[in-house]
Amino acid sequence: MSSDTQKLKKVVKNSILPVLSCTFFLATVSYFNNQNYGLALEYNGEQIATVSREEIYEKANHMIMDQLTPDEKSKVESKYSQIKIVPINAEECCESPSEIKNKIIENSQDIFVEACGVYVDDKLIGVGKNEESLKSMLEGAIEKQRELNPDKIVNIAEKIEFKKGFFAPEDVKSSEELRNYFFDETEKEFKYLTSKNETIASIAKKFDISEEIIKNKNNIDKETVAPYDVLKITLRESILHFEFSKTVEEEMEIPFETEEKQNDSQYKSWSEVIQEGKNGKEIFIYEIKYDVNGKELSKTELNHAVISEPVAKIIEKGTKEEPEGFLWPVPYTRNITSPFGPRWGTIHKGIDIAEAGVLGTDIVAADDGVVQKASYGSTGYGNHIVIKHEGVYSTLYAHCKELSVKAGDKIKKGQVIAKVGSTGDSTGPHLHFEIRINGQQVDPQEYLQKIKNRHH
Ligand SMILES: [Zn+2]
Repeated sequence: MSSDTQKLKKVVKNSILPVLSCTFFLATVSYFNNQNYGLALEYNGEQIATVSREEIYEKANHMIMDQLTPDEKSKVESKYSQIKIVPINAEECCESPSEIKNKIIENSQDIFVEACGVYVDDKLIGVGKNEESLKSMLEGAIEKQRELNPDKIVNIAEKIEFKKGFFAPEDVKSSEELRNYFFDETEKEFKYLTSKNETIASIAKKFDISEEIIKNKNNIDKETVAPYDVLKITLRESILHFEFSKTVEEEMEIPFETEEKQNDSQYKSWSEVIQEGKNGKEIFIYEIKYDVNGKELSKTELNHAVISEPVAKIIEKGTKEEPEGFLWPVPYTRNITSPFGPRWGTIHKGIDIAEAGVLGTDIVAADDGVVQKASYGSTGYGNHIVIKHEGVYSTLYAHCKELSVKAGDKIKKGQVIAKVGSTGDSTGPHLHFEIRINGQQVDPQEYLQKIKNRHH
């Protein structure tokens, strides 16, 4: 080799890859003027490949560099720079950058190897031989957890991506090494600045660790911590996490609604349930996620379905204004067992209202008024009430079980004043009801409202 060639070699050596200088190329061209020249790539004294132009090598070089992470680049840099490019006198040169790339890879296995990187959130977490071996390693690890948790679905919580690339050989780990590295928990220590009102217990709860760990690490034996104190916190963490999920069904009642319907042919005080309400049923399907310790992490609704629709309660209410006059005094029944008029050789001065089950039911005031009397009478009425109404009228309610008003009380029409009983001269529970005009009994049926269907 001539001294000029030596000089060129020196230039090449100094122009460390990946980018070779343009001036070098021009120098080469001018030196090998009118000759069959080429460039040879040499590594460890061996010729890897020959190229006709530096550009082809540069393209191959880019292909390799594109598949190296910045970390890997700095790792392989010093070895990679030992690949030399030397001018030669050659007949046949390789013109394909990808072929050159392959030749470089083939001949520099101690610098880098093609392998598969494992990425989480675009961050390289490990390198394995190839995607297949990595996938089967992860699948095996998941399978083991499935056996331990047969009732749950097991997955890896992180979204994992695989990317082929070139890596320093020492970074490529076996499946066994990677499994341990990914899933074994290791201690991570960091410093934590306490804030106001925090205690050892609240900090332990925050990081989901035991109070003992915090106390031991920081040589504390009390329960309280000073604010703005720096504590050493140690967490046990793995790089990848298993995620366990389960779908559960939950049944829920759908409460029924109450609808009101108007009935124009009934009075305002009338109402009737025409349809009873019934709750419906709904099934919710949730996905619950757990961590490796069985702690619930999240609950997400996947679906829900109505099993049975609720049935609305329908109440019909009258809208007609109440008529003037007296109100029927026993809401429970409109049954008259004995009318006003001649009876057993005398005159029955009121009406008797009774029906099976009437005992103890409400007696209501037939109209607004003031209680004149509310007491036990010696004349056979038993517990009885007399109400004085506006004008000439008064009403009497006899044989009551109990009285809920007293003389002098102001009473509203429809107000409960007593319960149906059988006190005094009575053979069974009933209300003896009188209407008086200026103290003289009249037939109540002529003065009571003729309201049909007025039952409760
Ligand atoms: Zn009577």
